[in-house]
Amino acid sequence: MNQWENESIRVVGVAGAGTMGHGIAQVLVRCGYAVILNDVVQQFLDRAVERISKGLARDVEKGRMTAEEREQALGRLKTTTDPAAVADADFIIEAVIENFEAKAGVFKALEIHARPDVIFATNTSSISISKLAAETKRPAQFIGLHFFNPVPVMKLVEVVPGLDTAPETVEAAMQLATSLGKTPIRVNDFPGFVSNRVLMPMINEAVFCVMEGVGDAAAVDSVMKLGMNHPMGPLELADLIGLDVCLDIMRVLYEGFHDSKYRPCPLLEKMVAAGRLGRKTGRGFYEYPK
Ligand code: NAD
Repeated sequence: MNQWENESIRVVGVAGAGTMGHGIAQVLVRCGYAVILNDVVQQFLDRAVERISKGLARDVEKGRMTAEEREQALGRLKTTTDPAAVADADFIIEAVIENFEAKAGVFKALEIHARPDVIFATNTSSISISKLAAETKRPAQFIGLHFFNPVPVMKLVEVVPGLDTAPETVEAAMQLATSLGKTPIRVNDFPGFVSNRVLMPMINEAVFCVMEGVGDAAAVDSVMKLGMNHPMGPLELADLIGLDVCLDIMRVLYEGFHDSKYRPCPLLEKMVAAGRLGRKTGRGFYEYPK
């Protein structure tokens, strides 16, 4: 299980051990990289190790790896609350909360310790890559590497150069994603990239359909599943992603393009204000009894 395509990258630092960070770390160790996983609280790191351990156990059950390979993969995972540990990393992926100040602060802390040649990648879904890059001293070695949830399953990685990203950085990021069994698609740095630029207005329009009484949530979802062959309806998907996350991304699109076609639907705003955020709160367009 050693798929190194880029010999110069052996140790990858991952900042943030949440939903995305633990998934990225799992795929990295599975593919032969050593990982330094960093978070602010030890408890979050422990939870990430437990999730990675379970994820790899599933791979063993399904015959995708042996029990011995799983042990070796887990042996390549190191967790730490100390950002100084990234001094050993050859490539760093940031996957902390979707907040500009938080991410900028993380990159500033990493920059103190990381080697100057190391590439910084961000897993942001909506923040400008060029703006984040400008917070570092290495905008040429800064790039967006947008993985999808759940990381071990989803094939796509959007590779998003900022205005000053060097071609070598793009090449290294594409190679890294490919070595993880992913399909990297290079897109440019505009609000929402391609994925959320197309997905979120569709979800928002589905919410308008419900608000205006064109159809209820089940009708809207059924039309999209049966008529367009979507595996999930847009409102089911919105409940899964989190209505607050959908609203935040619509706001990024609206503020980024200054175009009324991206205005968030008032019903989406009202549901978020009421705390109906989807699956995570037990209620969104559908109900999720515990
Ligand atoms: P999450 O809340 O599950 O995890 C974020 C983690 O970052 C938490 O464990 C938190 O403790 C940690 N963190 C916060 N500040 C930190 C710091 N200073 N240093 C180190 N760790 C810190 O969030 P998530 O869903 O994993 O999202 C992470 C990023 O990935 C966001 O930018 C998000 O937009 C993006 N993203 C999320 C999804 C998704 O479906 N969840 C999909 C694609 C991209």
